[in-house]
Amino acid sequence: MKIVLLGPPGAGKGTQAKSISNRYSIPHISTGDIFRKNISEGTPLGIEAKGYIDKGQLVPDEVTINMVKDRLTWEDCKNGYLLDGFPRTVAQAEALEGFLADRNEKLDTALSIEVPSSFILERMTGRRVCPSCGASYHVKFNPPTKAGVCDVCGSDIVQRKDDTEETVSERLEVYERQTQPLIDFYNNKNLLSTVDGTKAINEVFESICSILGSVK
Ligand code: ADP
Ligand code: ADP
Ligand code: ZN
Repeated sequence: MKIVLLGPPGAGKGTQAKSISNRYSIPHISTGDIFRKNISEGTPLGIEAKGYIDKGQLVPDEVTINMVKDRLTWEDCKNGYLLDGFPRTVAQAEALEGFLADRNEKLDTALSIEVPSSFILERMTGRRVCPSCGASYHVKFNPPTKAGVCDVCGSDIVQRKDDTEETVSERLEVYERQTQPLIDFYNNKNLLSTVDGTKAINEVFESICSILGSVK
């Protein structure tokens, strides 16, 4: 199964991706997580990406597309994958289409988690993440069992540097301008499915499973 997750920052893509990845045994590929790993390791890719990420802007298409194409050729992708945070521009979506067409493959669905912007600020400023395993928590809506500690791997959880009020509003503008057009892009190809992301985390997951159960 090959799935693209769409939705504004803070929609719950990362949260749902972890559960989908476990349920369907496909790798969760988050471009944000890959960038953050490169930043923490100080790689040339990380150094280049950091300036854009800290400002809430997109990393240039060419860099991002090459990074994803490389990742999709790994062995663990042969039975499918879940893309979280990619594509984010029409150029990225077209590159993914070309990559799939070259292999005679196709996407099963582009799943959009719909959340109005009025929900986003509270979700993102309350977000805490695990720098080791990428798990996402929320101080109010999804706290870890033990305060400040990741349930999955026991590392200390942190607030992302780009989850501040100013950066969030820039990221929402970037989303509306550059990523929202992908909704029409996939709708026109009859690949779009949508879920109401304002429901509780487990309810959203139930809706996603019922969609994924019928995409094949
Ligand atoms: P994204 O990957 O789309 O940016 P996340 O999965 O990191 O979003 O979720 C953003 C924040 O909102 C996190 O703090 C997460 O715990 C919280 N969250 C995710 N889904 C829900 C939900 N359905 N209801 C309330 N809070 C949620
Ligand atoms: P969120 O889901 O909260 O928006 P991500 O972790 O997906 O955050 O992304 C964090 C940042 O990494 C983005 O604001 C952007 O700067 C960069 N980034 C992630 N994915 C892409 C992409 N596909 N194209 C360009 N930049 C990206
Ligand atoms: Zn963890």
